[in-house]
Amino acid sequence: MSIPTDSPTKTLCPYCGVGCGLEVLSASQGKLGDQADNPIWQVRGDRAHPSSQGMVCVKGATIAESLDKDRLLYPMLRDSLDQPFRQVSWDQALDRIVQAIQTVQANFGVDALCMYGSGQFNTEDYYVAQKLFKGCLGTNNFDANSRLCMSSAVSGYIQSLGADGPPCCYEDLDLTDCAFLIGTNTAECHPIIFNRLRRHHKKNADVKMIVVDPRRTQTAEVADLHLAIRPGTDIHLLHGMAHLLLKWGAINPDFMAKCTSGWSDYAELVRHYSPEAVARECGIELADLEQAARYWAKAKRVLSLWSMGVNQSSEGTAKVSTLINLHLMTGQIGKPGAGPFSLTGQPNAMGGREAGGLAHLLPGYRSIKNPQHRAEVEQFWGLAAGQISATPGRVVWDMIRGLETGEVQFLWIAATNPAVSLPDLKRVQAALRRSPFTVYQEAYYPTETCEYAHLLLPAAQWGEATGCTTNSERVVTLCQQFRDRPGEVRPDWMIFAEVGRRLGFESQFWFTEPAEVFAEFSQLTRDRPCDQTGISHDRLRSEGPLQWPCPEGDLSTSNTKRLYTDLQFHTPDRRAQFVAYHPQGMAEPPNPDYPFVFTNGRLYGHWHTQTRTGRIAKIRQMHPNPFLEIHPRDAAKLNLEAGDWVKVRSPRSSAHFPAKITAAIAPGTVFAPMHWGQLWADQAEVNNLTHPQACPQSQQPELKACAVQLERLPKLAASPAIAAASNLTPI
Ligand code: SF4
Repeated sequence: MSIPTDSPTKTLCPYCGVGCGLEVLSASQGKLGDQADNPIWQVRGDRAHPSSQGMVCVKGATIAESLDKDRLLYPMLRDSLDQPFRQVSWDQALDRIVQAIQTVQANFGVDALCMYGSGQFNTEDYYVAQKLFKGCLGTNNFDANSRLCMSSAVSGYIQSLGADGPPCCYEDLDLTDCAFLIGTNTAECHPIIFNRLRRHHKKNADVKMIVVDPRRTQTAEVADLHLAIRPGTDIHLLHGMAHLLLKWGAINPDFMAKCTSGWSDYAELVRHYSPEAVARECGIELADLEQAARYWAKAKRVLSLWSMGVNQSSEGTAKVSTLINLHLMTGQIGKPGAGPFSLTGQPNAMGGREAGGLAHLLPGYRSIKNPQHRAEVEQFWGLAAGQISATPGRVVWDMIRGLETGEVQFLWIAATNPAVSLPDLKRVQAALRRSPFTVYQEAYYPTETCEYAHLLLPAAQWGEATGCTTNSERVVTLCQQFRDRPGEVRPDWMIFAEVGRRLGFESQFWFTEPAEVFAEFSQLTRDRPCDQTGISHDRLRSEGPLQWPCPEGDLSTSNTKRLYTDLQFHTPDRRAQFVAYHPQGMAEPPNPDYPFVFTNGRLYGHWHTQTRTGRIAKIRQMHPNPFLEIHPRDAAKLNLEAGDWVKVRSPRSSAHFPAKITAAIAPGTVFAPMHWGQLWADQAEVNNLTHPQACPQSQQPELKACAVQLERLPKLAASPAIAAASNLTPI
C-alpha cells in the first residue's frame, strides 16, 4: 500500500464502543523529524469526528505504542500442545486448515467445526467469516466475544422494540434532564461519553444523574443520587420505581395506548412490588428509591445508560426489558435526550451484530430461526436452498462443552483471548487443552490463549487493514490502514476468504479489497432496520463517518440520529412491548460456605486481558497490580490490613489479590479488576471464580457476580502473585 504522507490518516480508536475518532501522523508529519524507515506514529483526537469531537482517553492516546510490541509475525504450527511451534509458510498453514476442516467435516459433520471471533473485528472480517461458516460450510457455529458483552442488550431490544439497535445518540447526553445509569461505571469504562454527560450535568443544576451500582465508582461519586443496591436486585429496583410512577400517575397513557402493548400485565405485576419491600430487598433507603422515581417522573427527557452490570447476568434480557418498560410507561423514547441506551463494550460489537456475528444471527439483523431470512441470505450468497442450517449454532460456552464431549473437533479463535476471558476458567483451560485442532488468529504473541493453539496465524491489527466499525450510537467510521504490515501478517477477512476459496467457494469469495466486502455486506442490509446501503468506503472516505439507518439514494433520511421518532417499532404490530418478569436474583447467591458476593470490572486505563494495554508502559504504571476491594467492616472481621494478601475462593477455583480496604464497596461484596491473566500476574484471574450460568434468552454468562469465601494469606506466603510482564518472550 502507499502510506499517505501529506495529511493525517483518519481512523478510530480500537478499544471501546464509544468509538472515538483518531488522526494518525507518522513522525515525518509531526514534530519528531523524518524517520521514514521506522515511523513513529503519533495519535490525536479527530476534532471532525461527530461522536468524540476530538476527545480521547488514555487508551486512545497511547494506542500507537502497542503497534510493534510482541507481534506475531509468521504462521506457526505444531502437531501437539507439548511441542514448540515451528514457522511455516502461509500456503502450508492454509492447506493445514483446509485439510483439518475437510477431515472433520467428513468424519464428524460440519457441526464439529466452530469459530470464536471478536468485537475487535472490522465489519468486513465479521461478514466474510459469516459467509464462510454459516453460508458455505453450513454450520452456524460462529460466536464472538460479544456474547460476553452485549448479547443481553440485543435480546432485550429485540424483545421490547422488535429489533436490535440502540435508539439514542450521543447528542442525547447534552439534552437529557435525567440520566439514569445502571450497571455501568461509565467514568472509567466509557470515559468520553461520561465526560460529555458530566459537562452537561455540571452546567445545568436541574439535570439529575442517578447511578445504580453496588460500588461507589467514579461514576457514582458525581451522581445526585447513588443507589448502592445489593447485587442481583436490579429488577426489584426497576419494579419499585415503576410502582411509584404508577401510583403517582406519572405515566403517559396516550403514548402507551398508541404505541405499546402488554401494559396491563406489567401494571398488574408491579403492583406487587411495594416501595417498602423493594427498598428492603435492594438494601437502600425508601427515601432514595422515592427520590429516583421522583427524578424520573419530573424529567421531560430521561436517558438510561447501561453496560455490563446489566448485561452480564443470568437475567440480563429481563433486566434490559424491565428498564425499557420504564421508558415505555413514561413515553421516554423516540425523542431528543431520552431513551434506553446500551453502551457497547467493544469497538465493533455493533458492526458484529449488523453482520450477523453471533450464533443465532444472520447479516442485516436477520435471525437464523426465520426461514425467510435464511432464504434471503442463501439466495444472495448464491447457495442452494436449505444450505444455511435452521439450528442456531453453538454459543461460546457450548463450544467449550463440545470440546469436553468431543463433539467439537476444530476450533478457530480470532482476535480474542478466551484463556482469560471466559467464566469458570480452569474448566475452560482444560477443555481447550482437549481440542484436537485449534487455530488461533491473533496480532500478538504471547497471549494466554497461544498456549492452547496448534496453529498460530498472524493477523493485521489496528492501522494495518482498512475496514468499518460501528460505535454505540450507530456511527460507521472507516478505519484506514496507515502503516505497512509487519512480517507476514494478513487482515482477518483476507484469511477467511482465502480459506473459502481453497475449500472450493471461489465465486463466494471473489473480493480483493475490503471496500468490495463492505459493498456486498451493505446490500444485505437493504430495507432492514440497520440499512447501510447508502454507505460505502468511498463515501466514508470523502464525507466522514455516517450514522445508520442510511439507505441508498435517499440522503434526506440518512444520518438518522434517533430511532423510533415516528413511534413505529419493529414488532409485527409496530407497537413496543411491555414485558413482565419477576426477578430471579443472582444465579449463585452467597451462602454460609461462600458468604461474599464477588464482582469485577474494568479500570480506566486497561483494556480487557491487557493484550495491548499490558504492553504500554504508561498504562502499566497507572495500574501496576491487581487488587481486591473490601469494605473496612469485612476487613476487620478477617483481620486484614491494606496490602495483605487474600485468597478468594469460589465453588470452582481460587485467586489471590492484595487487599484494598475501602468504603466504596458495600459490606458483603468484594471487587477485583478483570484485566490480569497468567501473563501479567500469578493467580489473579477473576474468571477462576466466575460461573458460566447464563441468561436463558441471550446466553450471556453471569460474569458479574458469584459467591466466594475469603481467607487472609499468611504474610510470608504473600507477594508471589505479581508476575513481571517483562518475562514475556517473543516467539
Ligand atoms: S473512550 Fe473508548 S474509544 Fe474513546 S479513546 Fe477511550 S478507549 Fe478509545
